[in-house]
Amino acid sequence: MIRNTLMKQRLIAWVVLFAFCAMPLSLAAQTQIKLHSNKYKVEDDVKLGRQAAAEVEQQLPLLNDNQARSYVEGVGRRLVAAIPSQFQQPQFQYYFKVVNARDINAFALPGGPMYVNRGMIEAARNEGEMAGVMAHEISHVALRHGTAQASKAQKYGLLAGILGIGGAILGGPAGAAAQVASQGVGVYFLKFSREYETEADILGSQIMARAGYDPRDLANMFRTLERQGGGGGGFLSDHPSPSDRYARIEQEAQMLRVNGSYRDNGDFARIQQRLRGYPAAPTMAEIQRSGQRYPSQTPANYPEGSNYPQNSPTGRVEYPSNRYQGYQIFNGGVQLNVPSNWRELNEGNSVWFVPQGGYGQVNGQPVFTHGVNFGVGQTNSRNLQQATEEIINNFAQGNRNLRMSGGYQRTTIDSRNALVATLSNVNEATGQPEMIRLVTTQLRNGQVFYMVAVSPQGERNFDSAFQNVFRSVRIND
Ligand SMILES: [Zn+2]
Repeated sequence: MIRNTLMKQRLIAWVVLFAFCAMPLSLAAQTQIKLHSNKYKVEDDVKLGRQAAAEVEQQLPLLNDNQARSYVEGVGRRLVAAIPSQFQQPQFQYYFKVVNARDINAFALPGGPMYVNRGMIEAARNEGEMAGVMAHEISHVALRHGTAQASKAQKYGLLAGILGIGGAILGGPAGAAAQVASQGVGVYFLKFSREYETEADILGSQIMARAGYDPRDLANMFRTLERQGGGGGGFLSDHPSPSDRYARIEQEAQMLRVNGSYRDNGDFARIQQRLRGYPAAPTMAEIQRSGQRYPSQTPANYPEGSNYPQNSPTGRVEYPSNRYQGYQIFNGGVQLNVPSNWRELNEGNSVWFVPQGGYGQVNGQPVFTHGVNFGVGQTNSRNLQQATEEIINNFAQGNRNLRMSGGYQRTTIDSRNALVATLSNVNEATGQPEMIRLVTTQLRNGQVFYMVAVSPQGERNFDSAFQNVFRSVRIND
């Protein structure tokens, strides 16, 4: 008996000691979040999200910038890996895309597709604030709030209270797409209850801490939003009030220990700078009013370098068609018309329009014999001629045969002052001399928009097509 009591005392002492030591470090005090009852299967979340994502991507302009997208994807993956195990669903596929919209917002669809507005990335003061919004949205997905809310509405006969997505679940796959399509982009901003928003803030804070971010950055994002005036829907729900949410996250943050310390290595600032360099993005309201449909950005339409034809370009090409096709490039910042037998190719940050046979690869690098190329150059100079010289020097880095022939000439592009420079080069594929015409004009933000036309020296039957393309350019900055 005595031994037993002694054992018990020792045990209690151990427990007390353990608890005492562990207290400041443990996450035991953090708020416990539970899944709500849900009539839908996990697969329903996945199916529903997939259908809605297909619609979303036709109705919202995605930012066609691989660097920005892979950066956001990287932050997203770090957060997803930090979702507590009880909320991880192996069927969910989280992915992250950047929408070219100005509103400071983000939203996620059931099962994992997530859309982060360019305006949100540009507004955040650091990576933590951006990650905070993403962690909040990830939490709605992990907690299956969309289908949980739909389950509840069904129970109380409040079907009408659920916007598009909730209704779409009930309408079945065929009805879903039609219903979502008819209601436009606004429908994706599910209005969650106050309770759900608070849960997403709390779980979001916990995910932040587990991923090595300071959860206070999620709270700080509300201050940033207040300063800059955020948009509606999505992350910035009007209930609870931003100041209540700020206080609740701060309270939760005191109970959380940040796991390790993730150091922002400057990527955020670099990507932010890059995005600020693009022409201004439209607002969600403008996108919705325009009613424009966007083609899905399949790899077939947007080949990267490795998807170019493996062979080098032959230089044997069709004459430019007399029929022209309208394009928008740089997320609608530039409109132009191009002969209908040319195709669009994205090469790094620039866009080419080329005839079949006029492009290919040499030593794994894309090479063009005929076509036009558009890009935006970062420059240190506000003087157009100096800025143009910088761009030419940049081109010359990879082309030791590049020479300027003659000086600069003045012209106008879309009623703006522009400069023309003519250069000669030796084509890497054909070994033949080629002529390069470069036209530059300054954008409002100080960057330089450039247009390049390439064709073999002495081959003049592309000249009028090049002129028509250049004259059709409209810049919306
Ligand atoms: Zn929310």
